[in-house]
Amino acid sequence: MTSISVVPLGAGQDVGRSCILVSIAGRRIMFDCGMHAGFQDDRRFPDFTYITKQGSPNDYLDAVIVSHFHLDHCGALPYFTEMVGFDGPVYMTYPTKAICPILLEDYRKVTMERKASGEQINFFTSEMINKCMAKVRPVSLHEEVHVDADLVIKPYYAGHVLGAAMFLVRVGDAQSVLYTGDYNMTPDRHLGPAWVDRCRPSLLITESTYATTVRDSKRSRERDFCEKVQRCVEQGGKVLIPVFALGRAQELCILLETYWERMNLKVPIYFSTGLAERANHYYKLFIAWTNEKIKQTFVDRNMFDYKHIRPLHDKSVIDNPGPMVVFATPGMLHAGQSLQIFKKWAPDERNMVVIPGYCVAGTVGYKIINGAKKIELGKQSLDVRMAVEYLSFSAHADARGIMQLVRMCQPRAVMLVHGESAKMDFLRQRIQQELQLPVLKPANGESVAIETEQVMVVEAPVGLLHRRDWSEPARLRAGLLLPPSESALPAKRPRLLARDAALKEAGLAEHSLRFTTSLSLWSPHSQLSDLVTKVHAVCARAVGDRLAQLQDGNTISVLDRVTVLVKPLPPVGRQQRDNFQLLVSYSFENEDLGSRLFSLLKQEAKIEQSL
Ligand SMILES: [Zn+2]
Repeated sequence: MTSISVVPLGAGQDVGRSCILVSIAGRRIMFDCGMHAGFQDDRRFPDFTYITKQGSPNDYLDAVIVSHFHLDHCGALPYFTEMVGFDGPVYMTYPTKAICPILLEDYRKVTMERKASGEQINFFTSEMINKCMAKVRPVSLHEEVHVDADLVIKPYYAGHVLGAAMFLVRVGDAQSVLYTGDYNMTPDRHLGPAWVDRCRPSLLITESTYATTVRDSKRSRERDFCEKVQRCVEQGGKVLIPVFALGRAQELCILLETYWERMNLKVPIYFSTGLAERANHYYKLFIAWTNEKIKQTFVDRNMFDYKHIRPLHDKSVIDNPGPMVVFATPGMLHAGQSLQIFKKWAPDERNMVVIPGYCVAGTVGYKIINGAKKIELGKQSLDVRMAVEYLSFSAHADARGIMQLVRMCQPRAVMLVHGESAKMDFLRQRIQQELQLPVLKPANGESVAIETEQVMVVEAPVGLLHRRDWSEPARLRAGLLLPPSESALPAKRPRLLARDAALKEAGLAEHSLRFTTSLSLWSPHSQLSDLVTKVHAVCARAVGDRLAQLQDGNTISVLDRVTVLVKPLPPVGRQQRDNFQLLVSYSFENEDLGSRLFSLLKQEAKIEQSL
C-alpha cells in the first residue's frame, strides 16, 4: 500500500485562507494560497512556517495551483512567492491570471490605508504583485500540463466565478487527487455548471461551504430578492448590496436590470466606479468561460452594457435624499466602499442591506447576518437599525450539488475542506451512508494520510477481456504479464496477453506440470464405498455439492480441476498397516485448490483414525 498525505494550512474545518498541501507519490503540491478576511494580524495568511521550518520552500514544494481569483484562494500568493521565497511554478487559468493582480492590488491598498501610521506590517508591495504574477503559468480548460515526466495537472470548469477551475493532479497511472476549489453545480445567469469526467481520483478534496443547505429553487430566490429591493425603495429607503467586484455582482446586476426594465422602475441603481467597466472588459475577453446564453446573445447585445445601472462616479451621491440602490465592494463589509456606505446608512431604519453571499467569521457582514445590532468599529460604535437581508446567492455547491459531484467523479475517498466543522459532520455521514466512501475533515495543521491501492494499468487485447474465466478469482492466470513491447511505445505499459498468444510471441511450447499427493490411512472397519462417501462429503463441504462430482465408484472430480482417488491397499501378511490410500492430483495452475483440499482431507483422516 502507498498513501497520499494531506495537511491544510488554511480552510481545514474553516472558511478563509484556503491552502492545502498534498503529498502524492513523492511530489508536493500546494492547492490555493489564500488570505483570511476576518483577521488583520499574522492569521490573515496560512501558517507557512510549516514549510519553512523544514527548509527552503523550493526544496519542499513542486508546484502551487490557484483555483480562482477570490482573495481567500489567492490573497497570500505574493507573500508566499516574494517574501517567503517560493520560486517554483504557479498554475492558474488565463482569466484568473488576468483578474487576480487587480484584486490583489485593491486588497493591498485597503490594507495599507487601514493601518495606523507608523505601524509596521508584514505586507507585500505593488512591485511584488507584478513579480509574483510573472511566475504564473496560465493553463486552458482540459489542457494536460506536464509539470515533469510523471506529474500531470488538468483543469476542469467549476462555475462559481469567471475562470474558476477544479484541478486534477495525477502522478503516473495510479494516484490522483481532484481539488475542487469553490464550485457551483447549478448554472446561473452568466456562468455554466461545474463539470468533471469520471476521473476516479484516489482522493477528492471538496469545498463544503453549504454542506447542510439544500437551497430552494433559484427562481424563487431571485424573485424574493427583486421584490425586497423594490419594496424598500418604494418606501423611500436606500438599498446597499455589498458584492465582490467580479462574479455575483454581474449576476445580480443582470437580474435587477431585467426586473427594472420589466416593472418600469425609475429609482437609480449605481455600481462602484471602475469595477463595472473593468469587469465588462474581462467578460468580453473571456466570453468562452460564460454560459451558452451570454455567448449567443453577446453578438447582438452585450449583457453587461446596462441601461439602468450607472457607475458611481460622484461619491457624494450616496448622501442624496431619496431612494437608490448601490452595489459596492467588498462583499463581506470588512473594508472599503461598501463599509463606508454601510456606516452612513445603517442607523436609518428605512434602509436595507442585502448580503448576497457567504461572510467569513469576524467580518461586519458576518456579525449583522447573525443579528448584531451594535457594531464596534475601532473607537466608534454603530447602531444597526437598517433591515438586514441575507440571501444565499453565493455560487457554492449546496449539499445536493456536492453529492452530485462525488457521484460524477467517483473518487475512492473524500476530504472536506472550506466549511464549518459541525456542518461537515452532517455531510460526512451522508457520503459514508449513501456512497460507502471514507470521508476525512482534517483541521488546520493536522496531517492525514489516505491509503491508496497499488494499481497497475496494463494493455490487454479485447478478446482476452471477453473471456469467460475472467470473472473467476484466479484471473491473472487468464494471461501472462509481459513488459511493454517496442512497438507499444510511448505507452510504456506492461501488457497482459492470453497464454497461447504469449507463448506464440515468445516462440515457446507449452508444458504442463501435475502434482499428486497421497495419504495412507488405517480404517479396518470401513468399506471402500463408506470411505468414498466420507471423502466426497469433505470435498462437497469445501466447494459446494454440485461442484464435487462422484465419478466411477472411487473418483471425485472437484471443479473439474482436482481429482481425488480412494483405493484399498493390499494386506501384507498378518501385520497391521494402513489399508487405504487417498490420492489428490492437480495441475500446476490449480495448486491452491489442490493443496487446500489435501490439507482438509488430512485433518478429517486424523479425526477418523482417532475414533
Ligand atoms: Zn470563491
